[in-house]
Amino acid sequence: MMQQYFALKREAEGCLLFYRMGDFFELFFDDARQAAAILDIALTSRGEHDGEPVAMCGVPVHAAEGYLARLIKAGCRVAIAEQVETPEEAKKRGGYKALVAREIVRFVTAGTLTEEALLEPRRANVLAAVCELRGTIGIAACDISTGRMELEECTPESAGAALARLGASELVAPEEWDAAPEAAVARPRHDFASDEGEARLKSLHGVATLDGFGNFTRAMLAAAGGLVAYLDHVGRGTLPFLQPPVARTGHATMAMDEATRSSLEILSSQQGGRAGSLIAAVDRCVTGAGARQLADDLGAPLLDRSAIEARLALVHWLHDDPLLRADLRGVLRALPDIGRALGRIVAGRGSPRDLGQIRDGLAEARRIRDFLSAKPDRPALLEALLPAMGGHGALVDLLQRALVPSPPTERSQGSFIAQGYDAALDELREISGNARRAIAALEGRYRAETGIAALKIKHNGVLGYFIEVPAKHGDILMAADSGFTHRQTMAGAVRFNSLGLHEEAGRIAEAGGHALAAEEAHFEDLTARVVEARLLIADTAAALARIDVAAGQAERAAEGGWCRPQITDDNSLAIEAGRHPVVEAALTSSGGKSGARTGSGERFVANDCVLSPDDRLWLIGGPNMGGKSTFLRQNALIVVLAQAGGYVPADRATIGLVDKLFSRVGASDNLARGRSTFMVEMVETAAILAQAGERSFVVLDEVGRGTSTYDGLALAWAVVEAVHSGNKSRCLFATHYHELSRLAESCEALSLHHVRAREWRGELVLLHELADGPADRSYGLAVAKLAGVPKAVVTRARSVLDRLEQARSETGGIAAGLGDLPLFAAAASAVHDERVDPVRQQLDLLDVDALSPREALEMLYSLKRLT
Ligand code: ADP
Repeated sequence: MMQQYFALKREAEGCLLFYRMGDFFELFFDDARQAAAILDIALTSRGEHDGEPVAMCGVPVHAAEGYLARLIKAGCRVAIAEQVETPEEAKKRGGYKALVAREIVRFVTAGTLTEEALLEPRRANVLAAVCELRGTIGIAACDISTGRMELEECTPESAGAALARLGASELVAPEEWDAAPEAAVARPRHDFASDEGEARLKSLHGVATLDGFGNFTRAMLAAAGGLVAYLDHVGRGTLPFLQPPVARTGHATMAMDEATRSSLEILSSQQGGRAGSLIAAVDRCVTGAGARQLADDLGAPLLDRSAIEARLALVHWLHDDPLLRADLRGVLRALPDIGRALGRIVAGRGSPRDLGQIRDGLAEARRIRDFLSAKPDRPALLEALLPAMGGHGALVDLLQRALVPSPPTERSQGSFIAQGYDAALDELREISGNARRAIAALEGRYRAETGIAALKIKHNGVLGYFIEVPAKHGDILMAADSGFTHRQTMAGAVRFNSLGLHEEAGRIAEAGGHALAAEEAHFEDLTARVVEARLLIADTAAALARIDVAAGQAERAAEGGWCRPQITDDNSLAIEAGRHPVVEAALTSSGGKSGARTGSGERFVANDCVLSPDDRLWLIGGPNMGGKSTFLRQNALIVVLAQAGGYVPADRATIGLVDKLFSRVGASDNLARGRSTFMVEMVETAAILAQAGERSFVVLDEVGRGTSTYDGLALAWAVVEAVHSGNKSRCLFATHYHELSRLAESCEALSLHHVRAREWRGELVLLHELADGPADRSYGLAVAKLAGVPKAVVTRARSVLDRLEQARSETGGIAAGLGDLPLFAAAASAVHDERVDPVRQQLDLLDVDALSPREALEMLYSLKRLT
């Protein structure tokens, strides 16, 4: 057995091996230790291997799905080794001691799931492959639960952003590739050959050329090869549902890197869950497929104005007709997830219930089409979607005739083919029905004949049908001429058989066996019909999802009084009375509590943001907790929502298309990451300075805060200058450094703003209201008081502050030297400026090695006096 186990384990490389033994899947050695820890089940041992006890744990087969789900969540991959023959067959083949043959029938991995119970209904489940070809990166991604597949080529620099957008739950990459993402599963290099990939896609879709699907580069095809080869490996030769690939070009969607996505909390909050994210605050879809489409939209806002307008027009149409919207959403709500049912069926893991879902979903789609077609003034996008929602008449008709109203999930038990679909099957059912009635009649007859009122005919899995009487009556039936044959004596009962019962039972078994076989054949046939129509069914599912997204967006907009944004091609960004959808929702749901503390009432305070080419960088000051971060993010989120084709939380919004969006938060706000946070902050800032352009929108929150005051101020200063004069992007920059306001003197497209606060009867009142001009003071101590820092500490801090401020007014403050600092563009030439600088002269004369610490300190003081 160990030999067989190790052979399977080699095949299952990198996976936990579920080794089927009777009613259990057993795990051994390290697999057992790992699984027992994750699943919190008992770790035992059995026998010995190399003189050591063999660690073992097991899960019952009937409950395996739940355990699998937990292992997959924990990041494991699992290989399932089933018994592929019965013990009897094994004995026949190899004699008394022969081992039952086992094979890996399937790999269960995070990216290749199709089971309803293992998937989240509102999230796509993406498997991606990534590889490098002559300096470019190819990415192939698919969601096999619905069959979507896309290919992308990008540069090594933009690969991170592309992968972040995909949010794959599993990633594969060639082995021995230095630049492979850390979490990627290593696969053989030869899987990632572009000609191989091309050939696989062609044969998969039965075409001689891929040109009809789009333009694919060598790098894309190489990645596709790796992806399909992996699916082939994992499915043991059965490929899941894959639609023709779509080529994604980097120019079609707004670029957002991983740091931006996580800081804006678009699809998940920084705590990790969906709660608190943008999508949670926006999603009003009534179907899982709609929610998945919305996540896709928000993750990849568009750059094409007409495509955005098309989506907006559909939202608008549904927004302005609340009755239509309510009706439509009511019908959509009852829709089964046909995309995922289809995914299971094509992967060969479908059930009769999945066929029923396809039937009901397609029938419903046609009704929705007819309902919408009757409405006037239909927008163009809807017109384009409607045809995809019909055209399944023959298939729906077939499934309706063939299946019972609610088919079971288990197919091996039969009973899913409807009465009247197959005359032969009906006859078989009739035979077993008659035989069952005959058996019931036998029971009455035997009771009368034997005079035993407690006589019963029963059935179990071991004996089949049998006659049972209480033990005290056993002797009557034991008599040689009674016509009954003894089968089993129990504690309180004796069991018998009879010729009549034997015959009827035989009829039931035979007819039942034939009926099951007939149902199985019908299942295969119906499945094949669905598989044949898979691409059209997928189109229907996609059209329904798109309509659900639009209806959900319209619903959300109506709920919150949102507006339809104007999309333009210039570099403006004008948002009137903008709100932060997540913060606003939190304020509303938590009632007046937080509102009372901040003094703003329980309402969210709306703010304007108006950027234009000659006022494109807003520097925003004001107290901590004043609402700076909220303001920054709300404007970035409004851009995301608008370019995803939805309404936005504002009274009016004009959005000049943003090609790249960047959002960064100063280091001290995300200490949890555990790396050198200042380093992270600088790496991320460097990425912005390298990539942002005139059409980009950059949101920087307290950048420079992760280091000492001087360094931080200097860096913040230089970054603002660079974004202003180098990148020329639209930018919101929040800071608590007062000194930065002096940048307004040298940067002509920069203006100063602050969040307002007031002290009222010694209490700080945060107004969360944005006003023009620099912040007058920092209110740090007032915030500390508000936060509950003990009074004595605040008082002490006040006196320390007074001392500091006094010293500052004597020296001119930390920014004293900044007033005549040349712009960074001019800074390089300034190095060669020969003006005589007394500090520099002193420094030139200095022999550092000759100084004692004390002399060094004194030298510093004297240098300071010279500035
Ligand atoms: P800052 O970045 O200035 O420290 P935040 O943006 O983090 O401040 O805001 C702090 C808190 O103030 C938020 O969690 C929210 O509860 C509240 N807040 C922020 N902006 C508003 C607003 N416009 N209206 C109402 N409350 C707000």
